[in-house]
Amino acid sequence: MLRQTTYLTKRYGVPEGWTLPVYERDGGYEQAKRALSMPREALVEEMKAANIRGRGGAGFPMGVKWSFMPWPPKPEKPHYLVINADEGEPGTFKDRTIMELDPHAVVEGCIIGCFGIGAHAAYIYVRDELHLSKARLWGAIKEARAKGYLGAKPFGIDYPVEVYVHTGAGAYICGEETSLLNSLEGKRGEPRLKPPFPAQSGAFGMPTTVNNLETIAAVPVALAMGGDAFSKLSDLHDQKDGGCRLYGVSGHVNTPGVFEACVGLTLRELIYDLGGGVKGGELLGVIPGGSSCPILRPDEVVNAPDAKSPLHRWHGKNVLDVPMGVETYRALGTMLGTCCAIVLNKNTDIVLAMHNLMRFYRHESCGQCTPCREGSAWLFRILDRMVHGEATMEELDRLHEIADNIMGNTICAFGEGTAMPALGFLRKYRKEFEEHVRTKGKSGTGRLAL
Ligand code: NAD
Ligand code: SF4
Repeated sequence: MLRQTTYLTKRYGVPEGWTLPVYERDGGYEQAKRALSMPREALVEEMKAANIRGRGGAGFPMGVKWSFMPWPPKPEKPHYLVINADEGEPGTFKDRTIMELDPHAVVEGCIIGCFGIGAHAAYIYVRDELHLSKARLWGAIKEARAKGYLGAKPFGIDYPVEVYVHTGAGAYICGEETSLLNSLEGKRGEPRLKPPFPAQSGAFGMPTTVNNLETIAAVPVALAMGGDAFSKLSDLHDQKDGGCRLYGVSGHVNTPGVFEACVGLTLRELIYDLGGGVKGGELLGVIPGGSSCPILRPDEVVNAPDAKSPLHRWHGKNVLDVPMGVETYRALGTMLGTCCAIVLNKNTDIVLAMHNLMRFYRHESCGQCTPCREGSAWLFRILDRMVHGEATMEELDRLHEIADNIMGNTICAFGEGTAMPALGFLRKYRKEFEEHVRTKGKSGTGRLAL
């Protein structure tokens, strides 16, 4: 059942919706003021009850992450809150809308977040190309500081909080949290080995919580509603996947865009109701949550006879009718990721689509690990030969081998983020790939765009 909401997007489309007067008219900053007077444990418990699963892609429970911070903070080890707004996942463009249209929700979320984890400074790491996002965040911080909501005594309460914007330099890998931390410290943006997790050793070697931008912007809404009530907005509340969230849809749909709805929307609702249906032909496949998530075919049926499976309720149903959740999608063999779907119609050349994606991963690998650096380049080279009608069946099998060998053998999730979608394409469209090789590329439509 399609349940669109407007908790996170209330000010989208409102004239001057990004300014302080409009935000305050809607009760803005009341939750920050309230939070700073709450016992810290009560705030963290409220956030745990809200069951906000990280909106950046990994889906880690936000309240649990806050609770990982060492307590009480030691004076020689200041805590930091870092907000990941380096939104670079192909097909993902939701955080940008919040920064442009509702930046005060981010600043208010940062104040509450700082208090929740014992930090006095929050860094928002923004993709440098997002000029309007940066300007709107800087504007909101300036307004909040002028009103005394940031600084030495926010709302007159003795808990100093500062929020800073730090800009990236155009590398996709800086969206990976440890690479982002290195970049924030002025170092080369390369991922670190985990553990230690940022909660133990993060920014400047200090305990740090890294939250995605949409995650932190949802905090004032969840606190105002109460954690439990917020969680129960979701159809997957029983799977500890709560609230409402932003969904994106792009590619071959009639009305691409960003929409807000309760957690548990189905892909069918996202594509056909919100996205206005498939454009230019029938549906070939959907990359559900950003390009790192393995593709789903529209003819796939859920096979979950085990009553313990998070998918059991949908056993026998079409995958498009499964609520989009962290656990349901993991059980489907894909990932929810950022909840921003890329839709491909039947005119798409699937070999060209994979070739296009692998070019991206080859370019963005930071090069630290051999399986990722060499593997991503090798995948691309074979696909390039395939596109030009030069690849052999043996090379088609080699694509599998290379992707398999990347899995589990790299420092960060980028390696698997390359290999998993590659394996998804190869397994689900094997016939099309074989035909492409057999006909030396003549079976493909040669088209990516409409
Ligand atoms: P992860 O599962 O390693 O970690 C998720 C979060 O939980 C991290 O913040 C991590 O520090 C924390 N965590 C996990 N286990 C912990 C523990 N035992 N103790 C303390 N903290 C712990 O995933 P990841 O590498 O952070 O993210 C990968 C995801 O990022 C992919 O799913 C991909 O979809 C997504 N992604 C998003 C974008 C984007 O633009 N939004 C870009 C690239 C990738
Ligand atoms: Fe760099 Fe790739 Fe290794 Fe991540 S997996 S550290 S991106 S080489």
